[in-house]
Amino acid sequence: YFNSNTLVYLDGEFVKAADASCSVYAQSLHYGYSVFEGIRAYKTPDGTRIFKAEEHYERLHFSCRAVGLPLKYSVAELTQLTYQLLEMNNLQDAYIRPLVYAATPNMSLTAPQESNLMVAAWEWGKYLGDRTLRVMVSPYERPNPKSVPVEAKVSGHYVNSTIACSDAKAKGYDEALLLDMNGFVAEGPGSNFFYEKDGELYTAPPGSILRGITRNTVIELAREAGITVHEKFFTPEVLQEADAAFLTGTAAEVVGVQSINAHVFKKPFEESIGALLGRRYSALVTGGLVPC
Ligand code: PMP
Repeated sequence: YFNSNTLVYLDGEFVKAADASCSVYAQSLHYGYSVFEGIRAYKTPDGTRIFKAEEHYERLHFSCRAVGLPLKYSVAELTQLTYQLLEMNNLQDAYIRPLVYAATPNMSLTAPQESNLMVAAWEWGKYLGDRTLRVMVSPYERPNPKSVPVEAKVSGHYVNSTIACSDAKAKGYDEALLLDMNGFVAEGPGSNFFYEKDGELYTAPPGSILRGITRNTVIELAREAGITVHEKFFTPEVLQEADAAFLTGTAAEVVGVQSINAHVFKKPFEESIGALLGRRYSALVTGGLVPC
């Protein structure tokens, strides 16, 4: 993620990543009480462009409000300092990780008066790789939205993601698929899930999922291509009859699912709607021509 020259943005200045540190008494470290974003910048014919910077930084503000963390930077300021960070690190294609946290030594369970902001960036290939994934329906559910604001990107929620993902890998799969508290398919540990059936797409509605920005983009791209997208609840059983499936996320982009619980989908991913949308997504983010 960093070398001896890498700079990160930390509370108003650009500092060497190796020198950026945090107290072991920091409130966020003890209680998972921080929020973050995952953003990508791409090299385009017009230079490096952060894809949907405004949506990501609006969601960072939403996440802060959801847990009561103050954030004193506007969306425009956040966007500007991120471009500066990319330039200072000579990055063109990059993954960007802003983190809002409470670094002050504090063992209380009350929201802090002030927060800290760190933004890092590094070159990162597709998070889940390019191959199609063998996915397992996880025994771990997404958190109950009555317990925590699951639509916010809160660090502590990723304990759920990490144990679900590690469990799937320990059982020989590539990735987990988590259900919501009612047994409906919700999402992956760090991605949203879609399946294809008879030329149409299905994905979970908001409620127990992170409203993925890639999910929204893919829905728009599908509708532009005349493909119907249903946002509705479904159980994992319906996936037995599905034609194909894929995951979406800023880090993962669009990645095919080969099988669920070892049941292989009928259609090879390369021939599926997901593959078509994946190509259109790549063209969109890199500012290239949209292939048909
Ligand atoms: N769900 C979860 C739990 C995630 O962590 C992510 C990644 N941010 C997503 C969905 C996809 O969201 P996005 O497309 O905005 O990256």
